[in-house]
Amino acid sequence: MCADASTDCMTADPLLRYWRIRAGEAEAKYLLAKRRMVDVDLGMDTETLRRMHDSVMLDGSSTGKTPLLDLKKELSKRMLDDCALCERACHAKRASGMAGHCGVLEPRISSEFLHMGEEPELIPSHTIFFSGCTFDCVYCQNHDISSNPEAGTIVSPELLSRRIEERAYTRDKGLSLTRTSIRSININWVGGDPTPNLSFILDTLSKCEANLPQIWNSNMYLTKHAMQILDGVIDVYLTDFKYGNDDCARRLSNVDRYVAILKRNHIIARRQTEMIVRHLVLPSHIECCTRPVLTWIAENLKGVKVNVMGQYGPAHIARQFPELSRPLSPLEFESAIEIAHDLGLDLCD
Ligand code: SF4
Repeated sequence: MCADASTDCMTADPLLRYWRIRAGEAEAKYLLAKRRMVDVDLGMDTETLRRMHDSVMLDGSSTGKTPLLDLKKELSKRMLDDCALCERACHAKRASGMAGHCGVLEPRISSEFLHMGEEPELIPSHTIFFSGCTFDCVYCQNHDISSNPEAGTIVSPELLSRRIEERAYTRDKGLSLTRTSIRSININWVGGDPTPNLSFILDTLSKCEANLPQIWNSNMYLTKHAMQILDGVIDVYLTDFKYGNDDCARRLSNVDRYVAILKRNHIIARRQTEMIVRHLVLPSHIECCTRPVLTWIAENLKGVKVNVMGQYGPAHIARQFPELSRPLSPLEFESAIEIAHDLGLDLCD
């Protein structure tokens, strides 16, 4: 029985719809958005398109000849002329070659493969790593790609969509020595962070047909408008809630207004669809970050899966920050797990 009806928590299984898509009993949201027609002319001005998008998302109507996914794609493309996809809101004219804080211009993919190291519910996950990030985390384990938007290769949406389809339906390699066929059970958009690449992702999905859940694997620093575009496309948010206060966020990831933005977006994400919230436990940050983050989740995101992660080790420039220059101790991790248990959180295995 759901503990709190006010959070749109409909079922006891926090990933019920995800499992139904996997079983072929439901359609991935992006496919529904492709088939849902709306009555708009994509040549209209941006404000009108936004208004129509928001109204269509509210009333659930389906009349016209333009796929809803195309409307979302058009809106996200227009944002590249004045980028406010994330809350840094650089307003960079990325379409004209002017990079913002993340440095991302044309999307580059540093790697894409069937990931076997994600949460058990998600593997094998076709994970697509974009270069560049909206954060500057001093301990980033992927800093070689997150801080270098030029890393990786430019791949067309057509080619990437073919790879998605191949891995979903015809993949028979990787474990071919044992003649085992592996298929991706979802698409996992990550980086760095996927946010600067929203338009490319929607363009890719508009060329796909595979009934695979879409996972948004992100720091969740998106603007409200970007969150609205993701509504009806993403099946599972795989979020990263790191800090319990703005000082730690500013000092370690160079972002402002972190807590308010993360809380807002987690509430929006919860209303939209299913989610798994990750929290990486940082050494010496139990009381300032772990406890308040987990407490907030327990009070506001009832019924979600939570992954309390204990694998922190100093990477990138973490050794310049005294408390981050060592791995997390087993005692600290135990303490984080104890807090989570005391709060009654539903932890990933
Ligand atoms: S996505 Fe990049 S360019 Fe756009 S607002 Fe964020 S940091 Fe700036």
